[in-house]
This record gives sequence, C-alpha cells and structure tokens, in this order.
Amino acid sequence: MKITLQNLTKIFPGRKKGEKEVRAVDDMNIEIPSGKLVGLLGPSGCGKSTTLFMLSGLESPTSGKILFDEQDVTTLAAEKRGIGLVFQNYALYPHMTVEQNIRFPLDNMRIKKDEGNARALDAARLVQIEDLLQRKPNELSGGQQQRVAIARALVKMPNVLLLDEPLSNLDARLRLQTREEIKRIQRETGITTVFVTHDQEEAMSICDIMVVMKLGIVQQIGEPQGIYDDPNNLFVANFLGTPPINIFKGKVEGGKIYIGDEAILETDVADQEVYVGIRPEGFIYEPNNRIRTNVLTLNVDHVEVMGRDKSVVSTHESSTKPTVRCIIDSDVALPKDADKLRFKLKPNKVFLFNAETEERIR
Ligand code: ATP
Repeated sequence: MKITLQNLTKIFPGRKKGEKEVRAVDDMNIEIPSGKLVGLLGPSGCGKSTTLFMLSGLESPTSGKILFDEQDVTTLAAEKRGIGLVFQNYALYPHMTVEQNIRFPLDNMRIKKDEGNARALDAARLVQIEDLLQRKPNELSGGQQQRVAIARALVKMPNVLLLDEPLSNLDARLRLQTREEIKRIQRETGITTVFVTHDQEEAMSICDIMVVMKLGIVQQIGEPQGIYDDPNNLFVANFLGTPPINIFKGKVEGGKIYIGDEAILETDVADQEVYVGIRPEGFIYEPNNRIRTNVLTLNVDHVEVMGRDKSVVSTHESSTKPTVRCIIDSDVALPKDADKLRFKLKPNKVFLFNAETEERIR
C-alpha cells in the first residue's frame, strides 16, 4: 500500500486563553512507496506522533490529504483504514493469555474461532513467541511483551503498520535485538510500515527511507546513508551520526575555508561567515605530515580506544561544542603526550553551512 501525504497540517489551538496555537505538523508532503519501512525521526515535540496519529485516523488533520494508494482516507474512520498500531507501552490486556491478546482484534471482527486461532498462531510464529501462547503478559519480558503487541497488530493483516517508539521501554541489548526483529518481520510481510523514533541510530539502522523533522517541518527525506552523506542543513547534519559531527565557526575568504587562522580547504563558495561541519571520520592522522593545506590543528585532551577505532578527543577555540572528536584507525600510532595534533581532512566529510540560514552551501 502506497501512502501519500499532501500538504498535511495539524494545528492545535492554545490550551489556555492567550496561549499560542501549535503547528504540530506543517505542510507535510511525502510519498511512501509500497512495502517500505519508513522512519519519522526528530527530537521531542517535532510532530512525529501527531503525523502517525493522523495516519491512523486517531487524530484528524487541520488541512491537507492522506491517500492510501489512490483512496483518499483523510476522513475515513480509524477502524476502516486497515491499520496495525503498536505503541511504546505495549497495552496488553493483563488478564488475558498471550493467545487471547493476539486474537482479540479478530474476536472483535467476529472471525470464526478456528480461523482466529490459526491466524494468531501464524502471527505468533512470525514474531517467534509460539511457545508462550498460554502465558499472561506479567510472565513475559519487556521484549516478549512488545512481540505480542506486534503480533496483535499483524493478526489483522493490516495494509499499513504504524509503530510509535516501539523500542523505548526496552533495555539497550533488547532494543538492538528487537529492532532487527522488526526489520525481519517487515521484510517477510512486505507491509508498508511507518516507524516513529527520536533515536537516529535506530532509524539509520533499520529504515529504508527516513523523514527528518523539526518543529513540525520536514527537513529532509531520503535513504539514511544518503542523508548522512549529504545533509540539507546544519540541523540534519547535527542530528545524524554517533559520535556527532564537529561544528566550527569559520569563514570563506578568497576561495579558502578558514577555521581560526588555518585555511583548511579550497572552495568556490563566495566570501561569507559559515559553520564548518566535519564528521569524526573525516580526520586522518599522518605522522611526519609537513603539508600546510587541508590541515586542522587540534588541542588534544585524551585518546579513547574503542575496538577497531581510536577516538582522539580534542578542543578548538572555534568549535561550537565542548570537544572535537576524531575517529582514526586504532593501529595508527600517536605521539605520546602530544598536546597538539595536525590532522589532514577528507574533503567529502567537510560540510559548509551559511552562518545565518544554516542551509548547506557545500
Ligand atoms: P515526542 O517524541 O516527545 O512524543 P513528537 O515528535 O511525537 O514528540 P508530537 O507529540 O507530535 O511530537 O507533538 C508535536 C507538538 O504538538 C508539540 O509541541 C506538542 O506539545 C503539541 N501537541 C501534541 N498534542 C497536542 C494536543 N492534543 N494539544 C495541544 N498540543 C499538542
């Protein structure tokens, strides 16, 4: 099922007299191809859940349209949309067994008991909890409860699966495992799925398409790696990546990009004040490096070794963040007790943003 959002807008009136209205979702235009896993990503309050609620029919838009394939469902009742919904709190019925929980939507649809049981078993198998059917929710781990909630959403054979922060109640290890599971289930069923999260790593790792939002406005849509490599603006560049991108105040003068008094790269961008973003993996340490261009000198604070990589944690007077992180190969030998290091820069890991608009200009 293809989903199209056209000029979708949701304005909440101020709650008290004199309080300003909130444009929770502002003129959103997206086309979600059939069978894809799409992540709505952004910080708290950017309008992700409101978008999901409008897709589900639990919230009605102020203006704009929602199409499922060619059908306009903007005003269609929630139960007629063929939606499976999974929330962060699993919302299972505590007095029912796993099987009864999964079958519940089918009982409501008056589907015959035999067929209901068979479909519940299929859904349980899909999320790999077929051995737990006779347990009650309080006899399950958080990850297992979330699987039951997913099975309950899938048993209806929905056209669209909507997941609202489904992993945030799980501990770190289960979160990793369950996100892989969601990817597998989505691939196996081919159901168009919209997944809401504020966790960029989660979105980057499982989504086919990512929609990055800020204050109700879509900032960028695309494949995760494409957005990481080619962000539209400072917000998007900053939001994606662990460790995050390093941002410096800089300028372009006479065809050169400056951070402090070092000319780090040549450019054809016109003279202006800029923010320079350099990804942590954009630094190369070369001992005995005598070159004077494409170089940035950092004040080394300490070095962390993390498996395959080494992270040099430094400072720089032009950095907008307390520390600057450079990821280099852990085999590279750094001089002991160096307080300053010169790093060569990988040009494709260096981005420029206009200092006022914060739009990307290189
Ligand atoms: P979170 O990750 O914290 O859930 P979100 O990105 O899902 O955030 P929404 O819940 O969609 O954000 O909220 C978007 C904006 O709309 C916020 O500013 C929020 O305060 C506001 N908002 C949401 N629901 C209502 C409501 N019923 N009445 C008034 N304002 C609302």
